[in-house]
Amino acid sequence: MRRRRWLFGDQLGPHFLDSSAHRVLLIESRRVFQRRRFHRQKAHLILSAMRHRAAELGETQCDYRPADTYREVLQGYDEPLDVVQPTSWAALHFVDETAETVDLDRLPARGYATSRADFARWAEGRDRRRLLMEDFYRNARERLDVLMANGKPVTGQWNYDADNREPPPKRRDTLGVPDPWWPDEDEIDAQVRADLDAWTTDGVEFVGEDGPRRFAATREEALAALAWFVEHRLPTFGRYEDAMLSGDRWMSHSLLSAPLNLGLLDPIEIVRAAEDAYTEGHAPIAAVEGFVRQIIGWRDYIWNLYWYFGDEYRSRNELGARTELPRWFVELDPEGTQANCLRSILRSVREHGWAHHIPRLMVLGNYALQRGFDPAALTDWFHRSFVDGYDWVMVPNVVGMSQHADGGELATKPYAAGGNYINKMSDYCGPCVYDPKVRVGPDACPFTAGYWLFLNRHREKFAQNHRMFPVIRGLDRLPDLDELVAQGPGG
Ligand code: FAD
Ligand code: SF4
Repeated sequence: MRRRRWLFGDQLGPHFLDSSAHRVLLIESRRVFQRRRFHRQKAHLILSAMRHRAAELGETQCDYRPADTYREVLQGYDEPLDVVQPTSWAALHFVDETAETVDLDRLPARGYATSRADFARWAEGRDRRRLLMEDFYRNARERLDVLMANGKPVTGQWNYDADNREPPPKRRDTLGVPDPWWPDEDEIDAQVRADLDAWTTDGVEFVGEDGPRRFAATREEALAALAWFVEHRLPTFGRYEDAMLSGDRWMSHSLLSAPLNLGLLDPIEIVRAAEDAYTEGHAPIAAVEGFVRQIIGWRDYIWNLYWYFGDEYRSRNELGARTELPRWFVELDPEGTQANCLRSILRSVREHGWAHHIPRLMVLGNYALQRGFDPAALTDWFHRSFVDGYDWVMVPNVVGMSQHADGGELATKPYAAGGNYINKMSDYCGPCVYDPKVRVGPDACPFTAGYWLFLNRHREKFAQNHRMFPVIRGLDRLPDLDELVAQGPGG
């Protein structure tokens, strides 16, 4: 008889089972929510998704166990189990430990387009510092035959990045595309909300606001969200991908990271849906290629680097950043700063547990990098505060991509920028009390001042990086550096 499958809360789609009748064990561990202060809407989403899955499968197929800890349920479990490889080093170690005392088979990971074995084959013989995303992505396109014809990119061109970096349209505060798909809450959500209220009374703490559930929690909802995105928003994806608009938090983004990371969608079905939209003439190649690049390029690259770099990667801190995160930042309190960009984005995270990629990288991450926030504490903050945050995706994105704490293994150049970049790519600066062009004095933009001070702090290290050399030369030419150092970054 087939073993019962022990599923984690991010393994909820049909591709985590081997048949529709497969029996399941799902453990709702309260300790997980006691140990870390999650965004309230993230806790809601995860519990809602797990309970919806249990309800779909029914009691005969799913043994759903609310418990204090996983261990409490697993020790002495009276049926043989198997488990698909979990998504964090900590969970993997726990599974290995459990297998010493429980009859448990361990299976390879699912839900990613490139397996660890395929990644290892691709990475073999390459320098660890030259595992370029673009090379990985092209390899994945070929191997998976996505947007390809006769072994070549379907249009003859691999990459439409140059078309996908436009600043936001002028004199508009929204893109004017149809809203994303939103779910309707049901009685399971009402019960989750009541339980979380009760947990709060019992001392479990959350961050952020409660609010209507914004992200898909079931397979059916996830498919509806995907179909809606492909139909209404994919055609405009890409062009303004790097832009930010104060009146449009969602722009043309898919909002699919949360259901994808819950395991409700498989990346391959997503890219096939996008590819069909191109083939049927519904969406242009630049939009479709830009989106496919995110899913089987960036997402799988990050997933695989998480394992490839090893468990110690999370504690890398090559820039020696030790600043404690300020209270207002931790609390997602927009009133803690006057910087309009940062205020708006913190408000979005507070209200939804979500902001798109550029606010994460070029505002939140950039600010933290400039101020020297401790990368491990920042990783934890991102993980807890974002609805789609999981260890595997946060560690490389924060430690490597955003904080340059790995000394440039993931990204050759730090993602640091002054106010001019934010001014070009958003409409935040117009109403701000600061001026993005000014670095010293009461109007000094905290991003502009912070940028130069960051470079100054690490000038010796960056002088050895040929991609940073021109900006270090620019730093040497600043007439007011002493004044800037005396003033500090502000904001
Ligand atoms: P879209 O813009 O519609 O992109 C489509 C999909 O591409 C996303 O749903 C996501 O699955 C994938 N993707 C794109 N870039 C990345 C990437 N760098 N890493 C992983 N997947 C990617 N993504 C998460 O899923 N969870 C996180 O916790 C997370 N934390 C991040 C933290 C920082 C500091 C940065 C810079 C990026 C982070 N990302 C994370 C990546 C990216 O910002 C989000 O996936 C994206 O903003 C989610 O919104 P969306 O689904 O509308 O994405
Ligand atoms: Fe942000 Fe500086 Fe622009 Fe203000 S002026 S919105 S702080 S970049």
